Amino acid sequence: MRTPLVIGNWKMHGTLAEARALAGAIREMIRRPRGVQVVVCPPFTALAAVAEVLAGGPIQLGAQTCHHEPAGAHTGEISAPMLVDVGCRWVLVGHSERRKEIGESDEVISLKLRAALAHGLTPVLCVGETAEERRQGFTFTTVEGQLRAGLAGVAAGELGKVVIAYEPVWAIGTGVNATPGQAGEVHGYLRGLLSELASKEVAQAVRILYGGSVKGENVDALVAEAEIDGALVGGASLNAQGFVAIVRRAARAGAASKE
Ligand code: PEP
Repeated sequence: MRTPLVIGNWKMHGTLAEARALAGAIREMIRRPRGVQVVVCPPFTALAAVAEVLAGGPIQLGAQTCHHEPAGAHTGEISAPMLVDVGCRWVLVGHSERRKEIGESDEVISLKLRAALAHGLTPVLCVGETAEERRQGFTFTTVEGQLRAGLAGVAAGELGKVVIAYEPVWAIGTGVNATPGQAGEVHGYLRGLLSELASKEVAQAVRILYGGSVKGENVDALVAEAEIDGALVGGASLNAQGFVAIVRRAARAGAASKE
């Protein structure tokens, strides 16, 4: 039984005051989450402030990326141990915006993922095809390549500590989400690959989230799919009420689909 997981990716949004207010409102509304785990990933500048707001509560803190080295001459970068120090337990790796805008390669993403594991963070490995790749029939090839490369060098025994997020690039920030059927098909494929890379038991335990224009109105149908274990939410996570509605609906849909 995989507990549904909902992660809010705040991207490059928010002053300190806004981040505190958003985290505070979410915490206030989600005092005792039942049947769902909740994580928020503010920008680096707001991590310490949000950590204070969330301290002692059930909502956990994550970051949007990390550097693969623990320390050193890497101007502008933040390392996994620094994230742990500020209170993070999670980190996104390989988000498509970083692959595209920063040029993060699968090799670098794999280094980051292993650095996260080495320092006790849960990495959330993001994979997903572009619209063109889907049109040309390369969806499965693309996500398979990203999954295999991202997990390269991770011991089979460690694979169970990773979360995967399937985020079709064409669905991110566009308002056009993958249908539950489209997403479920890719999730099933990814779980099959995890089975091959680790074992059936590990593959059954790993949570695979869907991300891409998730909102209150579509999360139920997505999480109701047997292979979809929650959501990575961008735009809709910046509104406390909207995000909390997604969390509640994901919890209900997750529970119902496993009855
Ligand atoms: C994301 O950036 O991870 C994301 C899913 O964004 P949005 O929900 O805005 O599509």
